[in-house]
Amino acid sequence: MKRSFDLIVLGAGSGGLAAAKRAASYGASVAIVEGDLVGGTCVIRGCVPKKLLVCGSSLVENISYASSYGLDFENFKINSEILLSNLRSEVQRLNKLHEEFLLKANVELVKGWGEFKNSNCIVVKNRKNGEILDELYGEKILIAVGSRPKIPSIEGSYLGWTSDDMFLLENLPAKITIVGAGYIACEFACILQGLGVEVTQLVRGESLLRGFDLELSSALLEAMKNKGIKLKFGESISSIKGKSGSLVIRTTSDQELDSNGVLFATGREPFLEGLHLEESGVEIKNNKIKVDNENKTNVTNIFAIGDVTNRINLTPVAIDEGRSFADRIYGESNRTVNYNLVPHAVFSQPEIASVGLTEEEANQSIGKDNVEVYRSKFRPLSKSIPKKGAKCILKLIVDKNNNKIVGCHMLGDNASEIIQMASIPLLLGAKKTDFDNTMALHPTIAEEFVTMR
Ligand code: NDP
Repeated sequence: MKRSFDLIVLGAGSGGLAAAKRAASYGASVAIVEGDLVGGTCVIRGCVPKKLLVCGSSLVENISYASSYGLDFENFKINSEILLSNLRSEVQRLNKLHEEFLLKANVELVKGWGEFKNSNCIVVKNRKNGEILDELYGEKILIAVGSRPKIPSIEGSYLGWTSDDMFLLENLPAKITIVGAGYIACEFACILQGLGVEVTQLVRGESLLRGFDLELSSALLEAMKNKGIKLKFGESISSIKGKSGSLVIRTTSDQELDSNGVLFATGREPFLEGLHLEESGVEIKNNKIKVDNENKTNVTNIFAIGDVTNRINLTPVAIDEGRSFADRIYGESNRTVNYNLVPHAVFSQPEIASVGLTEEEANQSIGKDNVEVYRSKFRPLSKSIPKKGAKCILKLIVDKNNNKIVGCHMLGDNASEIIQMASIPLLLGAKKTDFDNTMALHPTIAEEFVTMR
């Protein structure tokens, strides 16, 4: 007999977990269906293990400054096998922790891949052998299955890796070619170069990080080149030949590159395959699930959140979408997600973080004559003795009409931590005069934000 729940959540990633636990906290009976490890992309093969690699890689850069401070690290070695193995242990610990959280929250974890039989019924299967493991009835169903990497269809693409694969490697390759210029490409280029890998990055356009403040992304580009990353612009990949570990890459301008690995960092797409959405009647538009601002699909009892809806594909956004869904349906709130002023960061080395409009966006939406740009560019104190490393850039974009700060951007150490806090005054509508009236905290990097003239 089918088991019945008030809510079935498909996908135990950040958004699905948040929604399931919040719904259960209101007394709803909740099952969460997951075919892979609990934790999803962010915890298992994304933000968390990536940030751990950033920590390891940036240590290497800091050690390179050590001699200026009188410390001798001349013969230090990088053992990527240990780093990758420790990283996997940490991911396993987090996976177990998330399973325990579900248990404590009274959410039933159903292991296997869910697919729709109809708009209220989910069949749970073992995808490897097709065995039916369970059949569940849900009064409401929340689709939170996330996204997966997109790979260009070129000859030999199966020989390449995606970011998922990077965390499963036993060892890092000596030489890698990275395709793309977005978040994942820039983050991995810096991580791997820092850990001693020879990195070539193929960028099909003319700049890195489309959509980010151009001054900052250009400064990152310089910093990446200075680190030794080989960037090739106007170039993509047309084929991969060879065998695992020893590859020959042909680029779109017909150059040949030898490489021990290729990382496709060419975007992600909603993970719709295998859901059998056609059985549910849920509408797909442009390869994503169409929802309104309350995460409702066109089928009244079915909702969707996170990357599968392809709006702002960031973990905190999916979590907030999941919680606000549960608050509205099972609690007593009418809250919807505030998509204004979503801060975002690229964990490159140096980091870039931003909230609000870039200079280019402000010029376009407010008009160049109405925009005031304040900036500060300097070598941080930590690098003043070594006299090496990238300078930081702090930038405020102000609407001259009302003195409001409409954008706040930073490249440099701890940019993500600083911009997280800067998001609060921006959300409260801070003016440039409010920043000016704030006392500086000296000596810090962030003090420049309140002393800019
Ligand atoms: P992005 O969308 O950030 O970047 C994709 C890159 O691949 C772009 O530079 C794009 O070029 C390029 N590209 C796409 N197709 C091809 C192709 N066929 N050949 C060559 N280049 C190609 O995707 P990512 O994969 O880096 O990241 C996916 C998403 O994951 C991000 O958008 C973000 O939402 C999330 N993420 C967030 C992180 C964070 O918050 N720090 C970290 C990692 C991921 P072009 O610009 O010309 O289109």
